[in-house]
Amino acid sequence: MIVAANWKMNPAFDHAADLATAFASQSFAQIKRILFAPHPYIVPISIRLNGTTLEIGGQDCHFADHGAFTGDVSALMLRECGASSVLLGHSERRDAHGETSDMIAHKTTAALAQNLDVMLCVGETKAERDDKMAEQVVIDQLQASIPDHAPPSRLMIAYEPVWAIGTGVVASSDEIASMHGVIASFLTDRYGANHVPSIVYGGSVNADNAASLFSIPSVGGALVGGASLDADTFSAICAAAQDAYRLRADL
Ligand code: PEP
Repeated sequence: MIVAANWKMNPAFDHAADLATAFASQSFAQIKRILFAPHPYIVPISIRLNGTTLEIGGQDCHFADHGAFTGDVSALMLRECGASSVLLGHSERRDAHGETSDMIAHKTTAALAQNLDVMLCVGETKAERDDKMAEQVVIDQLQASIPDHAPPSRLMIAYEPVWAIGTGVVASSDEIASMHGVIASFLTDRYGANHVPSIVYGGSVNADNAASLFSIPSVGGALVGGASLDADTFSAICAAAQDAYRLRADL
């Protein structure tokens, strides 16, 4: 199980440092936790996380290592500054920055070359779901965003219906189970049944709905936006993931 925090362009640095310290003061034995922090925070926060189980990652990266790309950050820079992973293909970047799946594949290649793990986001808009195109959209995104050579052990897939992000509307269990099944089947075809990357759900996850989301067998964790800006809430989501893991493993 993986629980990842996507802070987006939040919060103020003092608050961020306190939050990261609170996250890091806890440990969930069977849960991989990743904090996708704003880029300027990666160095100061990774110093605070030294020796803890909380990993830190970037929210995007460029496909080149260096060059004339004003405002961009490379995978090499992220790794050198303490990141162990990167979030790629978030719908806010696909939408607000015009990122295509082809661009995301190049970024994924760059990130993997720097030994970063990649959490790749896919998901349909409300209009695409209403048009019954959701599955095809997600398959097309997977097909075009995952480079051929990408090792499954370095990949995590986040299914994030765009209409569920930041809206308070959570996809139903049936919608999630069905789309996770589609994604798992795509990944099984590509990698074989024993090498399917973790598939997490994202979209308005909070402390109240986490346990129910984690009771869906194909949900391998969560990508959490707004609710990751509160230490107690994020902790409760991680605890729910740990409980689900133990129930599945019959521990
Ligand atoms: C996200 O930004 O990836 C996300 C899922 O946000 P929220 O949890 O706020 O819906």
